[in-house]
Amino acid sequence: MAKGSKRTGWVYSEIFNWHDTGRYNMLWAPSLSVQPGQHVENEETKRRFYNLLEVSQLAEHVTRIRPRPATDKELLRFHTPAHLAHLQQVCDAGGGEAGGKTHVGAASFDIARLAAGGVLEAVDAVIEGRVDNAYVLCRPPGHHAEAELVTGFCLLANGVLGVKHAREVHGLKRIAVVDWDVHHGNGAETAFLDDPDVLTISLHQDNLFPPDRGGFEVVGGSCAQGSNINVPLPPGSGSGAYRAAFDQIVVPALEQFAPEMIFVASGFDAAAMDPLGHMMLSSEDFHYMAECLLKVADQFCAGRIVMTHEGGYSAGYVPYCGLAVIEAMTGRNAGIEDPFRDYIVNYGAQDLQPHQQAAIDAVLLTHQLKQAAE
Ligand SMILES: [Zn+2]
Repeated sequence: MAKGSKRTGWVYSEIFNWHDTGRYNMLWAPSLSVQPGQHVENEETKRRFYNLLEVSQLAEHVTRIRPRPATDKELLRFHTPAHLAHLQQVCDAGGGEAGGKTHVGAASFDIARLAAGGVLEAVDAVIEGRVDNAYVLCRPPGHHAEAELVTGFCLLANGVLGVKHAREVHGLKRIAVVDWDVHHGNGAETAFLDDPDVLTISLHQDNLFPPDRGGFEVVGGSCAQGSNINVPLPPGSGSGAYRAAFDQIVVPALEQFAPEMIFVASGFDAAAMDPLGHMMLSSEDFHYMAECLLKVADQFCAGRIVMTHEGGYSAGYVPYCGLAVIEAMTGRNAGIEDPFRDYIVNYGAQDLQPHQQAAIDAVLLTHQLKQAAE
């Protein structure tokens, strides 16, 4: 193995791409005023990420992990029986809208089980030491799903189920979840709000989705003050804002928490080309963020990181951002240039702006105040 390189698990299946999100016009169901089109959450971003990995020099350096369906028992660690019954019912009826802007096909619940089960397999492989870290290129995504809520294209809470699995099956206690998807990580926040042993951190565009979620003042339940850190960043945030948020908030918070494992909700919709987010990140920024987390993981938990794929809707650009993260995880060069790089890094206002630092300061102040009050 090359010096500094790591064994990275890779979970992917073509069947993930067969989850059918219908002929929406981006977010809207066809109607007399909406021409049928393509749902914004479709298979293309995922399939092209996989394809770019395949044609890169990294293809031979990841360890394939085959997903398996998660069982009812595993899903019920977080979801309610009513949630599972609802998904089954919509799929048995041939598909349709299962929740907020979330269309499913007849096979979608079975495919979602496989996505969640892929995360559990990745967790097993990392904790048992068969790989150092793992990336789960799963679909449907999961970070918006709550115990009894289908929303934001998410059916099952893949990452939350992974955390529960690591704790209940493998006996881990202190786990951190970092969500860099441009939308708020409401699933993990809700799941662990009252749990001081799970640190949830979400960086997102201020009040994008879900509406009115993700405020910096939400710091954890009464028994877990400080265990939830929301970093709502202004639209237009770029490289400087995200790197400052990592340097000033995410890394120090993780170092203070000292996790036994880190989960990442890896969405690429804060990238500059995304049609839903309004941020300006390049593949280099995702590489930077991944490196920050890998360093903390090396320091505290033998490098144990599991990343679950979340949003990211630019079919052209997601693959390059994803590959940059896999480069960081494997410690290897993919041998592929990001053709968008120069275009994006030269955008105006990529540097940290005063109003972005003010948003970061509000988070720092809130959490320092909480610490001072203890
Ligand atoms: Zn998203």
